[in-house]
Amino acid sequence: MLPGITGFPACWGISVLHCPYCHGYEVRNEKTGILGNGANGYELAMLISNWTNDLTLFTNGTSAFTQEQTAQLQKHHIKITEREIERLQHNNGHLQNVLFKDGTKSSVKAIYAPAPFEQHCKMPETLGCELTNEGYIKIDAFHKTTVHGIFACGDNTTRMRTVANAVAMGTTTGMMVNKEIILDNW
Ligand SMILES: Cc1cc2nc3c(=O)[nH]c(=O)nc-3n(C[C@H](O)[C@H](O)[C@H](O)COP(=O)(O)OP(=O)(O)OC[C@H]3O[C@@H](n4cnc5c(N)ncnc54)[C@H](O)[C@@H]3O)c2cc1C
Repeated sequence: MLPGITGFPACWGISVLHCPYCHGYEVRNEKTGILGNGANGYELAMLISNWTNDLTLFTNGTSAFTQEQTAQLQKHHIKITEREIERLQHNNGHLQNVLFKDGTKSSVKAIYAPAPFEQHCKMPETLGCELTNEGYIKIDAFHKTTVHGIFACGDNTTRMRTVANAVAMGTTTGMMVNKEIILDNW
């Protein structure tokens, strides 16, 4: 689910990014922002600092960083802005400025803003499949869910959401489904 900031949906996947492993190289060494706060924002700042030396954390309100985290961020020259965001100014999804409610603005090339994960539909839960605390479908090493005969793979089961992972998981799952059908009919 994307945050309700005007301009956010238009920039999603173009200059508002969720994953440094997917997009980091393309915006390396650029003026970069992170929409984040607290432990998650801090962890992401550590990751993104590998890609650029010009990094600003937009907390969009009061900072929730601990004193130790703030000191570490300062040590690594990562700026913190608590100003509340009004909207994102962009050209066809390419970010130009973050406009703040106090009338000021900040120009950045890209913003990392990981959106919380949610399943596309309630079907797995309705069928009785257990979900993890993070909302993913719980599977074992053979991609079996907690319900016999139901398997799952890809983004709906993992934080490691990439095309390569989804394809690899799909391959294994196909084999396991085939094997289970054979064994069920043996
Ligand atoms: C903005 C963005 C950029 C990304 N960039 C990269 C990248 O550069 N490199 C990379 O490796 N990965 C990238 N990813 C991640 C990658 O897209 C996913 O990891 C991958 O597509 C997962 O494949 P999947 O088959 O598990 O899920 P999906 O590709 O999401 O496919 C699931 C399909 O199931 C359909 N569906 C859902 N519910 C139902 C239902 N009830 N009935 C019928 N159909 C249904 C959906 O409509 C969808 O078509 C990016 C993701 C995003 C959001």
